[in-house]
Amino acid sequence: MDWDIVIGIETHVQLRTNSKQFSGASTAYGSEPNSQACLVSLAYPGVLPVLNKEAVNCAIRFGLATDAEIASRSIFARKNYFYPDLPKGYQISQFELPIVNHGKLSISINGKEKEVRILRAHLEEDAGKSLHGIVQGKTGIDLNRAGTPLLEIVTEPDMSSADEAVTYAKKLHELVQWIGICDGNMQEGSFRCDVNVSVKKKGDTKLGTRREIKNLNSFRFIKQAIDYEVNWQIERLEDGEKIDQATILFNPETGETRAMRSKEEANDYRYFPDPDLLPLEVTANMIDKIKLSMPELPASVAERFEKNLGLSSYDASELTANREVTNYFNNVLQFECSPKITANWILGVIFSQLKEKDISISLCPISPAQLAKLIQRIEDQTISNNAAKKVFDALWQKPNTEIDLLIDELGLRQISDSGAIDQLVEEVINANINMVNEFKSGKEKAFNALVGQVMKASKGKANPTQVSEILKKKLTI
Ligand code: ADP
Ligand code: MG
Repeated sequence: MDWDIVIGIETHVQLRTNSKQFSGASTAYGSEPNSQACLVSLAYPGVLPVLNKEAVNCAIRFGLATDAEIASRSIFARKNYFYPDLPKGYQISQFELPIVNHGKLSISINGKEKEVRILRAHLEEDAGKSLHGIVQGKTGIDLNRAGTPLLEIVTEPDMSSADEAVTYAKKLHELVQWIGICDGNMQEGSFRCDVNVSVKKKGDTKLGTRREIKNLNSFRFIKQAIDYEVNWQIERLEDGEKIDQATILFNPETGETRAMRSKEEANDYRYFPDPDLLPLEVTANMIDKIKLSMPELPASVAERFEKNLGLSSYDASELTANREVTNYFNNVLQFECSPKITANWILGVIFSQLKEKDISISLCPISPAQLAKLIQRIEDQTISNNAAKKVFDALWQKPNTEIDLLIDELGLRQISDSGAIDQLVEEVINANINMVNEFKSGKEKAFNALVGQVMKASKGKANPTQVSEILKKKLTI
């Protein structure tokens, strides 16, 4: 029996503000427990929430970036539940009237574009966290994170495989960093996904019952958790069992999911409008101002790279995965290097070095100007591509060395003097009469062998194109 997979994702994006959603306490990560727990975070009686304007701006930025409707009036609501890390007894969120509605994000799957619809994005606050094992036999509560501004972004159930889900999550992760609303740090919990998964018989129009995998903070976990969950559900259904809606957890150590609690319904939370907060009004004027400060979006930059620079869509999308990479690329192009060669160098040699050293391009020791110079030396045939890799490695060690000096120091200057090459070719022909005869009797391969001999005689420094040309001329006279 064939099954359709249906996935919808809710992502909690921590907004990049200095202070909390409803108070002036700091949101800095990693401080002493409770050093950032102000009276509002502690829910002292009588304290009142004051909305963080910057968080609202972030939500508007997101709405603009996903071509969404930005509500002129939205409402904060109390979501009531009891948990030790939530001293108020409710989380302030948005329920019926969220600030962002009906956006979309385009993802590319096997070369095909697919649109994922964003149902809504709403502002809310994070909870604190329980600390186990710090005080013997007791659970500590750290309220530093309580009240941290979040934007929860909810998709329609539009994804139909683990790959699509991961591609969407990556794209969203890139976008929120690109527009400057989130630092994207997944280890620190700045970007966490709840993934809803169901399966149904192929072609069925009615969706199956979903189970929601909570709090996935790595793309690898998203993939593993969905794969496991899909199999689990299909096995149950094929055995004639039924799926109960549930909230589940993924265990990265075992690669398995397990039920955390049966699914609560919205009405379990007794949502109601928060009487301490006025309706949030967003004016056209506010939106226009923010529009002016928006960067060109990655999809549009990628399209320009394809159209104007002739890059493949893969290269264009890789080069626009984050703004630092895009800026680096643009900075190299200022020196009038070939876009294709530049793209290959950044996505190939540079990316593999960055990955090996586990650093981002902002810490790349080789500046765009240096890379541009290196590429120019390939383009003007001073060095071969292989030699350029050696120069690159040396440069990585000694980043401020002058490239021409380095080329000479390493003895990599390509021989493009046709007189010198002529002489080398002559010598090789005389020393390899057999090969020459093989070539003349029709063995094409012998030609490459002769080129190889000349390259060897030049210690790899002869310009291979010139070697071929001169050799061909001499052999066909
Ligand atoms: P809640 O907040 O209670 O989890 P929502 O109605 O906001 O519920 O939906 C949460 C997510 O579940 C959305 O991303 C939605 O696309 C997704 N979803 C809804 N129904 C299904 C389904 N049958 N299978 C997979 N995902 C679903
Ligand atoms: Mg949910």
